[in-house]
Amino acid sequence: MTDDHRRRVPRTDAVLADARLGPALATLGRARVKEVVVAAQGRARAGEIAPEAVADEAVASLPPTAASMRPVVNATGVLLHTNLGRAPLSAAARTALDAAAGTTDVELDLATGGRGRRGAGAMAALAAAVPDAGGVHVVNNGAAALILAATVLAAGREIVIARGEMVEIGDGFRLPDLLESTGARLREVGTTNRVRVDDYAAAVGPQTGMVLKVHPSNFVVTGFTSSVPAGALTGLGVPVVADIGSGLLAPHPLLPDEPDAATELRAGVPLVTASGDKLLGGPQAGLLLGDADLVHRLRRHPLARALRVDKLTLAALEATLRGPLPPVRAMLETDLASLHSRAAALAERIGPPASAVDCAAQVGGGGAPGVELPSAGVALPASLAGPLRLGSDPVVARVEQGRCVLDLRSVPPEADDVLAGAVRAVLR
Ligand SMILES: *Cc1c(COP(=O)(O)O)cnc(C)c1O
Repeated sequence: MTDDHRRRVPRTDAVLADARLGPALATLGRARVKEVVVAAQGRARAGEIAPEAVADEAVASLPPTAASMRPVVNATGVLLHTNLGRAPLSAAARTALDAAAGTTDVELDLATGGRGRRGAGAMAALAAAVPDAGGVHVVNNGAAALILAATVLAAGREIVIARGEMVEIGDGFRLPDLLESTGARLREVGTTNRVRVDDYAAAVGPQTGMVLKVHPSNFVVTGFTSSVPAGALTGLGVPVVADIGSGLLAPHPLLPDEPDAATELRAGVPLVTASGDKLLGGPQAGLLLGDADLVHRLRRHPLARALRVDKLTLAALEATLRGPLPPVRAMLETDLASLHSRAAALAERIGPPASAVDCAAQVGGGGAPGVELPSAGVALPASLAGPLRLGSDPVVARVEQGRCVLDLRSVPPEADDVLAGAVRAVLR
């Protein structure tokens, strides 16, 4: 490279003065924009771009936000993918997030000017969505809901739990360890595959703080099995807690084996815990639903303060509950014919080597284990999976049977254009 070429690389301040970088200075901050400019200057000095193209290169390489987390197209066919942030939020929830981002009346009663119940609107929406619950409370996630219940009901005492429900929930975290971290002791009953009401009854005694029923949400045991519904345990004289996992508030016709809050509460279960970002389709949250006095005790316990949710969570949760069907529910309920026609249209737009294929999606993320959702998608050579992840609009696909499948059941229809563009970019 000639000295002349190097000398023609514009100075950082000169590039930063380019009007096209002005808005980014406000949204990304000067330091971040400067990094982008310095990288573009580096490319010019390395001879990869012309010195005159430095400003254009910097404008083109600006990240969309100051956070490094990027939007990703979930074409895995796993509707609730924990590594991809589980449920995508509805447009209603996104709008509510934006409004709540500034100062809000999250804990102030505007009518009296005094303190109000934190997130009163979200609590009212949840209570309306689960009329069988006398009381409702929201904490950070499903695990936090369990910890709070175990602390209040069973610290220093025993939790009676079926051996087949001692589950690992992912990333090496195990429910038994989580429960024991509260100072409760676990009293296991039954065997891996079978447990009866009598097993519970024999284990319950003066030391029992609660009986816990955990939905085995990420695996199925088939064959010679038996388990006891939570409602059958309410006569043992101790509180029963049902961890249903997925956050279905009422039965869903497509998922007949998935437990739901309304059914458990109607069966007399005093406390149900669930996640907000699974089949409920909202933000990460832990729901506590049930007996009014019990829920009141839970939310007044000191630990509840440490598990308190953010105003953003409350806003997104309320909007999810009050707004239109959230994306994960739309994806679950989408009919196969519309997935077929989207797959055919996408394969046509992309051209060879893409082809439309039938495939099978799943709920994932601790919901409806073993349930296959008929689906359709686009098949590509397996070698494209990596480049698709690394593109400017990252796409995460599923690699199966030596090919890369873009399953459309987990892709909102409005993302089909981005998907087509991303695939065409890696095929070029
Ligand atoms: C997902 C799940 C949890 C953990 O909930 P998080 O919201 O991920 O903390 C606990 N129990 C069951 C049965 C689950 O499915």
